Amino acid sequence: MGKRDIFEDNILNLTRSKALKNALKGWEVRQIVDLSKDDSMATCELCGTHFRKGVLARHPKVRATVTVGGTCVEALLLGRFPDKKKLAKRKRAVTSLVRQSYADVVDPGAWKTWIIENAPKRYAASVAELRYLGTITSDDGLQQLIRFHNKTRLYPRDSLLPEWKQLQNNGAKMIPKELTLDQARQILRKATPEGLTKARIERARSFKKRSFREVGGELAELWRKLNVNEKRTLVALLSLGECFVEREGEICKRATSASWKLLATPYDPPLFAWHTKVGAGIVWNKADPSGMVDVLVWSGGGRESRRFRLDKWLVLDPPSDAALRKLEKEAFGSVPEWFF
Ligand SMILES: [Zn+2]
Repeated sequence: MGKRDIFEDNILNLTRSKALKNALKGWEVRQIVDLSKDDSMATCELCGTHFRKGVLARHPKVRATVTVGGTCVEALLLGRFPDKKKLAKRKRAVTSLVRQSYADVVDPGAWKTWIIENAPKRYAASVAELRYLGTITSDDGLQQLIRFHNKTRLYPRDSLLPEWKQLQNNGAKMIPKELTLDQARQILRKATPEGLTKARIERARSFKKRSFREVGGELAELWRKLNVNEKRTLVALLSLGECFVEREGEICKRATSASWKLLATPYDPPLFAWHTKVGAGIVWNKADPSGMVDVLVWSGGGRESRRFRLDKWLVLDPPSDAALRKLEKEAFGSVPEWFF
């Protein structure tokens, strides 16, 4: 008898049902079982397999409580979605709800992982669904987890409030190094729209100054060759690369799709270039025959020379005025006044 048959036999017996469809109804996850950090294993009471990750499930109607391992948990929870299309639909709905509630700050995938690893016991039912089905059936359950996340998960202040220093200089209370989304919202709510705009403009200016402080020699010459829109594009992209470390690839791809074109050969070095996973850099020389090129890359406030394949690099190609304003809004919160 296979594992699946044993599972079906046991669950039919436990619930005193004739049809599997009915036997899968009415189960509640009471606790998450995770022995991955221990040296022990548990035994699945529905199929006999040893496991490290599973749940404690209860069926209140027939008063049964069982310890269940991985694949059986999945089978148990999938009973809620006899129709596979409905599960896929619910998955999409939850992902889009999570995306909506966080705008661009939190990636839905990272959100799910964080919840699975950090949610306390009282959310076991929703956490089990998230882990085994990749979604949450109850809207209330989803909202509870969003609220828990927003008041608990700490983010670096640079990623939530890029203009924190300027807000502080303009009279806001001390902003801690790490804060929750709820705390960041409260700070933004207290700031006046004028105060916020002022802080964002100041931040954009100081960012530009800092990024190009040591610009000299050839680099200064290269910078001077750029027109105003090219300079604005470059500074906005440098800032985006710094603010959104966590989801660099994603944000850069989206923000830059309209702004850069693929670096084609032959090209005339030196030039500013962009890589969706690396950020901005300067290409000093022509590529060698194997397609490798030396790029001076901006990273964490410093610059370092690295070798890359040429085919993934894009070159500066400033977007339309509207797209440029959108880019600056993403980078600095609002369109800054520029004094190049
Ligand atoms: Zn099992």
